[in-house]
Amino acid sequence: MEKLIYLDNAATTALKPQVLEAMKPYLLENYSNPNSVYTFAQQSKNAIEEARKVIAGALGAKENEIYFTAGGSESDNWALKGCAEKLAEKGKHIITTKIEHHAVLHTCEYLEKQGCEVTYLDVDEDGLISLEALEQAIRPDTVLISIMFANNEIGTVEPIREIGKIAKKHGVLFHTDAVQAFGHMPIDVNEMQIDMLSASAHKFHGPKGVGFFYMRNGAKLNAFIHGGAQERAKRAGTSNVPGIVGMGKAVELALDGMKERADKIAAIRDHMIERVLKEIPYARLNGHRTLRLSNNANFCFRFIEGESLLIMLDQKGICASSGSACTSGSLDPSHVLLAIGLPHEIAHGSLRLTLSEENTLEEADYVVDSLKAIVERLRGMSPLYEDFVKNNQK
Ligand SMILES: *Cc1c(COP(=O)(O)O)cnc(C)c1O
Repeated sequence: MEKLIYLDNAATTALKPQVLEAMKPYLLENYSNPNSVYTFAQQSKNAIEEARKVIAGALGAKENEIYFTAGGSESDNWALKGCAEKLAEKGKHIITTKIEHHAVLHTCEYLEKQGCEVTYLDVDEDGLISLEALEQAIRPDTVLISIMFANNEIGTVEPIREIGKIAKKHGVLFHTDAVQAFGHMPIDVNEMQIDMLSASAHKFHGPKGVGFFYMRNGAKLNAFIHGGAQERAKRAGTSNVPGIVGMGKAVELALDGMKERADKIAAIRDHMIERVLKEIPYARLNGHRTLRLSNNANFCFRFIEGESLLIMLDQKGICASSGSACTSGSLDPSHVLLAIGLPHEIAHGSLRLTLSEENTLEEADYVVDSLKAIVERLRGMSPLYEDFVKNNQK
């Protein structure tokens, strides 16, 4: 097999060599527990506080509003369960959307079993929520609005600033799962009136198993992990020093030249989208054409099974994703594609390609050429497609 072409950056990203270099001293030389009193521990303590400063700076937040966690899923759980618990006296109503990551959706389902009421907002055919519908959904007992910054499957970026405004106007806390957005686009928690935010290092070229939770001072959720006094006694457990240091370095690198990088990636992505839509019949782009992550392309190809497509792309050395939760035994199409109104049979033929700055125009062309051949071959074997062509010729 030739060189690997990695187009699954929404699932995870490659660790940057500079990130590994920043982490190394805290894996080998200074393995101290940052909570110990001796001088040897001071260095790792300083290193995690330095990372906290970089991350707070990236968001326009205060340092004591950043809590280190084990990643996006944990931060999402904290926001939802924390609000449900802390604000139980005010009410038990949560507003979210139908297209959230399962870290939010499955937590909401759990909370429903605990007696919470959840409104799952619809999205339009591009994946955008309606601000009117959001405002109408707010009730006196609403304790939280949790709406993702950008969708991990179709890339649509939600109107976060406007959502923040509405939440503030009604005095409801606003959490956003920014796992796909943070490190890829500018975010200011004050300008956008965000009260809580989840992010994860491995989605922006940092290490896996580490992330952070931004919680505005004043939101005051209870501790999420009970134990030691780490993270101002809100999230116990010995700090993942190398992970946190790596995340800090990854944030630094992400901020440096963010706009230029995003533009460069978007240009390659747009080239790919244009070619696919022009050269492959019955292909459809999912997600908003312009309000989308710069690295995301998501297509549906009628008369094709997403799984077969992925296997054949893999044989060409191309790593992609169907964007659907197809695990062995379950062939449910993606909840996101169903939410944007696609019928089951079309949602099954989906393909998500998510780029990084490592991808080149040549790779994009190779991927489109491969895709063309594969789609043609798979359709050639499809009786449905044969019937469709026959009927269209009449
Ligand atoms: C990846 C992802 C998560 C989960 O993050 P982990 O760090 O892997 O737990 C949550 N939300 C979104 C939108 C994601 O893309």
